[in-house]
Amino acid sequence: MAKQAHIFMVPLPAQGHAKPLLKLAYKVASYGIKVTFVDTGSVHSKPFATNSDKVQEHNNVVFVSAVVGLQGSDGHTHEETTMERGTQAGNLIDLIRNMEDPEITCVVADVTMGWILAEVAEKLPVRTAAFCPASVGSLALSCHIPKLIEAGTIDSNGKMARSDEVISLSADIPPWKATELPWKYPRNDETRDTEKLLFELCKTAQKTAESVEWIVCNSSQEFEPAACDLIPGYLPVGPLIESHNAERTSGAAGSFWLEDTSCLDWLDSKPPGSVIYVAFGSAAHLNQHEVDELAFGLEMSGHPFLWVVRSDFTREAPPSYPIGFLERVADQGKIVEWAPQEKVLAHRSVACFLSHCGWNSTMESLSCGVTFLCWPSFTDQFHNASYICDIWKVGLRLNQDKSGIISRHEIKTKIELMLSDDSMKANASNLKKKAQESVLPGGSSFKNFEKFINFLRH
Ligand code: UDP
Repeated sequence: MAKQAHIFMVPLPAQGHAKPLLKLAYKVASYGIKVTFVDTGSVHSKPFATNSDKVQEHNNVVFVSAVVGLQGSDGHTHEETTMERGTQAGNLIDLIRNMEDPEITCVVADVTMGWILAEVAEKLPVRTAAFCPASVGSLALSCHIPKLIEAGTIDSNGKMARSDEVISLSADIPPWKATELPWKYPRNDETRDTEKLLFELCKTAQKTAESVEWIVCNSSQEFEPAACDLIPGYLPVGPLIESHNAERTSGAAGSFWLEDTSCLDWLDSKPPGSVIYVAFGSAAHLNQHEVDELAFGLEMSGHPFLWVVRSDFTREAPPSYPIGFLERVADQGKIVEWAPQEKVLAHRSVACFLSHCGWNSTMESLSCGVTFLCWPSFTDQFHNASYICDIWKVGLRLNQDKSGIISRHEIKTKIELMLSDDSMKANASNLKKKAQESVLPGGSSFKNFEKFINFLRH
């Protein structure tokens, strides 16, 4: 008889990685499988397991605390904005060994933490699988790194030999420009070290992909058919989405920040399809000049807006607003530090999402049929914006002016353009339908998920 399945899940300690893996944990647990989830915490000192009482109420998901570090090629553990210094795989292996009732049968780790899976597979009689929170297209690019180096397209540091060329994996996947590779980071003092670490993570993902049986992805065959066909072993089971029917106070599963749910009542007071939702995920930063232009652009649009401004949104100092802005927009806008994003996107008052185009935000907005105004700034965000604007045609890019700034006029103009464009709204509704069908019985993600459950049980 097969052993009772007990899965050990290890996220990368970053918001955009931990949250979708936790959603996967709940989905697995709903099939009666026990999951032990490593709560890696965050630099915000709010481990998400304690962020909501509801998180702990689920019988089949339990949390264990461990801090997991990221090891670069230099052998040092890097401390990153959202990544903590910590222990290495050994501690996790001890944790796994000591788990009983029932004992661990499979370890699922973030694809960028493959070194954990490699050590686990070597030392313990358990199966392993990886989880990819990014697009299958981005993962496919990582998987091509050795070939790209061999062909001289990029050097061993990930720099493209010719800055005027693009990397194309297939006619149906957006190509990558030299400045828009997933390991690219905005220019500042930390750039070189960060790009090195990001390139290491992509190389780790490539090695992991070669060694595991399955890489479970938060995407869908319907969204990325060309990318899904590129490499065997991809198992798109997404989009992974919180239930839209959940009670308003019961969210926050996987959030590193406390959600300000007052914005849901505020949204209730606005007309259907009127609000611009503005959020840049957990790690993107604007400078004060960009914040000022964004503030003016939103105000000038005349539309209601809900704007997420994290306390660390500007690097230099806490963000501030143009003089008199907060008073002038008191009736037009609402600003929160962290929103219950999926509930916001599912709200009937939201018209469009001004977004940094992180992959989770992209999946969440697509699932709700909400169109995008794209403001990508690093890693895979440019490529996600290309999917949004060029392949799915559900969004518009916000373009920089000659001085490198996205101006208030650009923001106001694109909001107007977007809100008057019925074809993009129709495309977004169509993709919402495809997303829903994909995860329902008979859909491609549903079938892939059953395949994964089958793998976990045997
Ligand atoms: N998010 C949220 N509230 C906010 C902003 C973001 O809950 O106010 C969530 C969002 O729903 C998504 C995650 O944070 O699941 C951000 O992930 P994404 O991949 O979009 O961006 P990242 O933070 O990794 O850059």
